[in-house]
Amino acid sequence: MTAVLEISGLRKIYRSRKGVRKALDGFDMVVETGQVHGFLGPNGSGKTTTLRTLLGLIRPNDGRMAILGQPVPDRLPQVAGQVGAIVESPQFFGNFSAETTLSLLADAGGVNRLRVPAVLELVGLRDRAKERVKTYSLGMKQRLAVASALLKEPRLLILDEPANGLDPGGIREMRTLMRDLSDSGMTVLLSSHILGEIQLICDSVTIISAGRRVAAGSVSEVLASHTSSTVRVRLE
Ligand code: ATP
Repeated sequence: MTAVLEISGLRKIYRSRKGVRKALDGFDMVVETGQVHGFLGPNGSGKTTTLRTLLGLIRPNDGRMAILGQPVPDRLPQVAGQVGAIVESPQFFGNFSAETTLSLLADAGGVNRLRVPAVLELVGLRDRAKERVKTYSLGMKQRLAVASALLKEPRLLILDEPANGLDPGGIREMRTLMRDLSDSGMTVLLSSHILGEIQLICDSVTIISAGRRVAAGSVSEVLASHTSSTVRVRLE
């Protein structure tokens, strides 16, 4: 397997009037092709900082990162078309349908509108495509957010807490969607602070705590070797 994403020695220190906060302290992560990779850690452990740094939204203090073999952020423009990301909850206009929403986003992103029906099918919203988004459940809105990131047919999809607030049915639908994407050859990096979500949705996982990697591997391996005292207590 080849790595779609590699991070090594990533450091980020926030300095503000309130003081200095070390958010990432030499963090490492490798995500292999075709995996649904979980990025698990408690609130404040550095997940969002990592994802925003990868996408060039935050400048790190040190470390190396590569997406699809290209060093980022320097070569981010070369891979930007192959990376779809949702790192902030997107706001949709409730009075627009999913179809209209995606068509407008396709126009704005220079994507052919003909891609919209395929994306709606992928995320399981084709039957409800003409209904207003304000009638959607949270899970449907989350899947619409994923759909917006899929418009440009990315090879790597980065999602920050996509299952946040979903009920068990919504989490199962998210799992089915992630499986379908991975079967189609896409690699997914999905962050969460909830162990059960990662167990249900992901193949492999990196666990972060206080800005450092504390474990990585297949979900079953990591959970078997990090028993209740380490993983569960830290996270829940
Ligand atoms: P959450 O799930 O709560 O977003 P997280 O794992 O994504 O948590 P980060 O948001 O990356 O964690 O935060 C890591 C640390 O950096 C936390 O201690 C947080 O308070 C701090 N932090 C994040 N953003 C800033 C900022 N803009 N200025 C100062 N400190 C920050």
